[in-house]
Amino acid sequence: MVRAIVGANWGDEGKGKVTDVMASESDVVVRFQGGANAGHTIINEYGKFALHLLPSGVFHQHVVNVIGPGVALNVDALLKELAALEERGVPTPQLKVSDRCQVMLPWHIDFDRFEEERLGKNSFGSTKSGIAPFYSDKFAKVGIQVCQLYDEALLRERLSIELVKTNCLLEHLYHKPPIDLEDAVSCLKELGEKLHGYVCDTTRLLYEANKAGKVILLEGQLGTLRDPDHGIYPYTTSSSPLAGFGCVGAGVSPASIKDIVCVTKAYSSAVGAGPFVVRLSGEEAEELRKRGGDAGEYGATTHRPRDVGWFDAVATRYGVMVQGATELVITNLDVLGYLDEIPVCVAYETAQGERITDFPNTPVLMGCKPIYEKLPGWKCDIRGITEYSKLPEACRAYVDFIESTCGVPVKLVSNGPKREETLVRQR
Ligand code: GDP
Repeated sequence: MVRAIVGANWGDEGKGKVTDVMASESDVVVRFQGGANAGHTIINEYGKFALHLLPSGVFHQHVVNVIGPGVALNVDALLKELAALEERGVPTPQLKVSDRCQVMLPWHIDFDRFEEERLGKNSFGSTKSGIAPFYSDKFAKVGIQVCQLYDEALLRERLSIELVKTNCLLEHLYHKPPIDLEDAVSCLKELGEKLHGYVCDTTRLLYEANKAGKVILLEGQLGTLRDPDHGIYPYTTSSSPLAGFGCVGAGVSPASIKDIVCVTKAYSSAVGAGPFVVRLSGEEAEELRKRGGDAGEYGATTHRPRDVGWFDAVATRYGVMVQGATELVITNLDVLGYLDEIPVCVAYETAQGERITDFPNTPVLMGCKPIYEKLPGWKCDIRGITEYSKLPEACRAYVDFIESTCGVPVKLVSNGPKREETLVRQR
């Protein structure tokens, strides 16, 4: 059985925590897209961690953690993360890397930086982790798969063709020194050697695991609104964070996905460029930002302050619809305990003054303003509560509101960043 854990919004919804919680009853956790460009914060008995590339099952010894073929694999970042876990006393996790996964080439990261510099104020808010150049090369079919790292002649042939174009751009567009073919070949051979012990046919592994009745979690990175097709293009990422893409990026049958767990925060947060209708400013923003997450709303990879806003029902309903969610998890519910009344965005007003409740395309979205309603606050700290029924009535009513506006059952709520701060919703 396959269960996807994906983000309803702009990312940073708390998928890492939810995956860590759900991994205890799962056998395999798979990353299926993205790379080291975003972080999942996890707090458990080993301490606090920001995972970037490692699947969030790495804290469970019984879990096989898989880097699927859809991932942008930065080999050094992966191995550094693994070593950092071991240094902090986490037992060595089981890790498998798809032989069809493609590797982030050192110049992808350079190109990401050069391109953001070139675009200046028109840049897309890249984390400069090489993601866009990586996926451009992948779909232009000039990328390098892990399995190709072990065939030096093939590697040299592919690189010699590819580097003609890369070096032309480096020299003439960005005015930087060219890449030497032999240096590139030996760098990639070295990456292959470092990875060797982890590489296998993960598609077969997942097929066998599913056939044997194991529970497989697909762990999404970012959220619906960063999807290149369905999100706020061009302020999106370069691979699809949708559960539907999980089948492709991990390598499992679409028919095997039984649960699509969509994670949303009790308020909104986004990092990077692009329209964000509920963006707050001034003191109101600062207060929510300071109280949000486990230590304020600052990006796990970039430490950039996140934009924050109230819960956006228009965006979340859309996010849940596009993901095809079968259940919803609400995180960061504890954060709102300081408010007398909690504004929620129930509709948008377009630039033409029309009230809309369906999430529009990006040009229309750019001109939208939020329309708020207020729900009663609960004015207390709900951290430490261990049963859903003990939550204040107004807090449960807030959960009911999100459930009814999204039309998907809320099965879990999170009332703190720690693993045990998770409540199963009873009705
Ligand atoms: P992910 O990328 O979706 O895994 O999310 P991030 O880890 O980037 O961001 C989620 C933030 O919320 C992190 O700081 C988490 O530690 C924090 N977090 C998750 N659940 C809760 C919760 O219920 N309450 C609070 N206060 N923080 C939470």
